[in-house]
Amino acid sequence: MSGLPLARVAPPPRAITLDLDDTLWAVAPTLVEAERVLGGWLAEHTPATAARLDAEVRAAIRRRLVAEHPGRAHDMSWLRRESLRHAMTEFGDDPRLADDAFEVFLAARQRVTFFDDVLPVLERWAGRYRLVAVTNGNADVERVGLGRYFSAAVNAHVFGCAKPDPRLFHEACRLAGVEPEATLHIGDDPELDVVAARRAGLQAAWLRRPQFAHRHPADACGEHAHGCFEDLHALDAALAAR
Ligand SMILES: [Mg+2]
Repeated sequence: MSGLPLARVAPPPRAITLDLDDTLWAVAPTLVEAERVLGGWLAEHTPATAARLDAEVRAAIRRRLVAEHPGRAHDMSWLRRESLRHAMTEFGDDPRLADDAFEVFLAARQRVTFFDDVLPVLERWAGRYRLVAVTNGNADVERVGLGRYFSAAVNAHVFGCAKPDPRLFHEACRLAGVEPEATLHIGDDPELDVVAARRAGLQAAWLRRPQFAHRHPADACGEHAHGCFEDLHALDAALAAR
C-alpha cells in the first residue's frame, strides 16, 4: 500500500498524534533492560522478594490485582507499583520500598533507543504540526528526551482510560487545539492505533516497520488506514506530496 489514499481522501492534517512504544522505539528491549535494573535494585534492598519474584509470580499477582481492581487495568504504573508492594508484603520485605523500586524501574524504562527516522522526522514535523503523544504505556516524552518536539502528551494511566477508547484521542485533539478530522494519528497497532483512531474521527496511518511486520497481516487495517508505511520518512514524503 502506498501513501496515495492519504493524499486523495483526507484533508491535510494540522496536528499529528503519535503512539510511542514500537512506533518511535522498540519497547521489548527497553522493558527487558528496565526489568534487569529493577532486579538488581531488588536484590540489594529486598532480597527475599528478589529471590522469589519470577515471571510466573509476577503474572499471578498482576492477574489478581486486575481481577480485584478492574478499573485500574489500564494503569500500567499502578499495576507495577502495586505488584511490587504485594510481592514485598508476601515475601516478608518492607512494602514501603515499593515506591522506590517502582521509581527505579520507571527511570530505566525511559532509556529508549529511537528508531533512526524518529529525530530527523520529528524535527521537521514539529515546525509544521501540533504533535501530541498518545500512549497506553508509561513512557514520558519529556523523560525519554522528546519533549522539545511535543506540545502535549496523553498517557492512559494519567488520563484514566486507554486506547481504543475514543476519549483518549479526543483529549489529544483538544490539547492540540485541532479537530479530529484534521488530526492524523500514527501507530504500529492496527486495532489500538488505526481502527481506534478512525472510530474516534481522526485520520490514521499505520506504521508497519519491517521488524514488526510478522505480527499482523498486511491487510490488518482493512479500509481503515489512510496509508501504510514502513518508516516515518515514507510517511513524511506522502504528507509533503499532498
Ligand atoms: Mg505501540
